[in-house]
Amino acid sequence: MTVTADRYTPPSPGSKIIVVGGGCFGLSTAYALALKKQYQITVFDRQPIPSPDAASTDINKIVRMDYANDTLYMHLAVEAFGLWDQWNKERAKKNLEPVFHQNGVLLLSGKDKLSDFERNSIRNIREAGYGHFIEEYKCPEEIIERFPAFEKAVKKGYNTGYLNKAGGWCNSSEAVKHIYNKCIEEGVQFVIGEQKGCLDKVHCDTKNPNTVVGIKTKDGQTHYGDLVLLTTGSWTAGLVDMHNQVVATGQQVIHFQPPENLRRLWEKLPVWLGDISNTGFYGFPCNADGKLKVGRHHSGYLHPRVEDQVSVPRTQVTNATDTIPISTLREFREFLDHFLPETTNLDITFARMCWYSDSIDGDFVIGPHPQFKNMIVACGDSGHAMKFIPVIGFKIREIVEGRDTEYSHAWAWRNMDAKDTKLDGIRADSLLQRVVLCEPNNDEARMATEGEFKAHYFSSLAPQKSKL
Ligand SMILES: Cc1cc2nc3c(=O)[nH]c(=O)nc-3n(C[C@H](O)[C@H](O)[C@H](O)COP(=O)(O)OP(=O)(O)OC[C@H]3O[C@@H](n4cnc5c(N)ncnc54)[C@H](O)[C@@H]3O)c2cc1C
Repeated sequence: MTVTADRYTPPSPGSKIIVVGGGCFGLSTAYALALKKQYQITVFDRQPIPSPDAASTDINKIVRMDYANDTLYMHLAVEAFGLWDQWNKERAKKNLEPVFHQNGVLLLSGKDKLSDFERNSIRNIREAGYGHFIEEYKCPEEIIERFPAFEKAVKKGYNTGYLNKAGGWCNSSEAVKHIYNKCIEEGVQFVIGEQKGCLDKVHCDTKNPNTVVGIKTKDGQTHYGDLVLLTTGSWTAGLVDMHNQVVATGQQVIHFQPPENLRRLWEKLPVWLGDISNTGFYGFPCNADGKLKVGRHHSGYLHPRVEDQVSVPRTQVTNATDTIPISTLREFREFLDHFLPETTNLDITFARMCWYSDSIDGDFVIGPHPQFKNMIVACGDSGHAMKFIPVIGFKIREIVEGRDTEYSHAWAWRNMDAKDTKLDGIRADSLLQRVVLCEPNNDEARMATEGEFKAHYFSSLAPQKSKL
């Protein structure tokens, strides 16, 4: 197999472009392409948008520019901030709630010293001229004075850090709806449904088996197009041979529904990262429904399918009673008992697995698929693309149109070797430790049961049964 980007022919005016997957990458690109007013664009999705189990669909996601030495993404985030503001203005005109909430991202680091991730982020942000966004704390007392809600965390050793005032969070499901509506306004067509909207396989020319001429959907129909753009997130490797460039990894989020006094305290918080490069844990202020969401960014779980061992998402759409693995639930509780001990008295009210399309080096994989003519893949989000939804489509459009940019270079198909897998600087585990979800004979990988989400469940166990 050779990388054949040079064989790639950009779509000419009038071309029919099929976008498969109406999440962050797909909708943002469909919108950017539609603004050119020279293509016929159809988006296919297996679910109504926002698709309930898409990575993009959630109550909130972090919008941050803190990327340590990955300054490509820092600059892209700064570009996105301007468009997030614009989206908020568009919504205000329609009396809609803002989608972007700029209440800051607080990066707390451990034990008297900033970790490399935070230190490098501050340095690069200052060197790029954005130092005015940074509020760095000189001593633990300063953090407590500014954020009394984190007094216990600071006293437990999360006692260095800074606030990035430019960051915050987005209501990601609303952001998806917002750009979906913009697509409709620009004339993008949609085919939605678990049969008629669901890609079964890409359809190739019978005489040229590596030339894509359209897609076949689950209802047996063939849809012809000049270019197919595959934006199917963590499902991608299960749909076409991605040559191990990306892998679906299951990550976890939980919700609490705190009582009124805590809700009032926690709704004023910034987004917080709790020594994320060592723990992987992060959380949000309570949202308008009073939900407090906490997530974990780590190497994640695999769900290999039987026939070829390719990891594919397993979600509450296909497995309605799924929660999260018991071992991760225990780790959430252990972390929060120290970091936000008020949660120890609270039941966890919701938990779910959400799937990243993890690339080998943490950069997105966006470019012509080397094996197929007329097909571009845009995946490998590696758990950090949602913040870019207002802007990523413009970068993908440049790739579709065959332009050379710093993004097209960084994200091009790059024949990475899975054994070189490295995780980005803010995963909990610097070593790759991917466990198979619900692996037989591994009780730690089973789904947690309802009773295990209750307050004090783990602390009430006999000490020998608990890791606490
Ligand atoms: C737990 C979690 C937390 C995250 N937190 C953050 C964060 O704080 N900040 C941030 O910036 N990013 C975050 N991300 C990452 C972000 O959500 C993703 O990078 C982004 O959503 C990826 O978008 P996508 O379009 O590639 O995939 P998705 O949003 O998953 O969209 C894929 C779409 O393809 C459709 N599809 C799949 N198969 C088919 C098929 N066969 N036919 C038709 N359609 C199909 C799906 O229905 C779906 O609509 C997080 C992700 C997770 C899982």
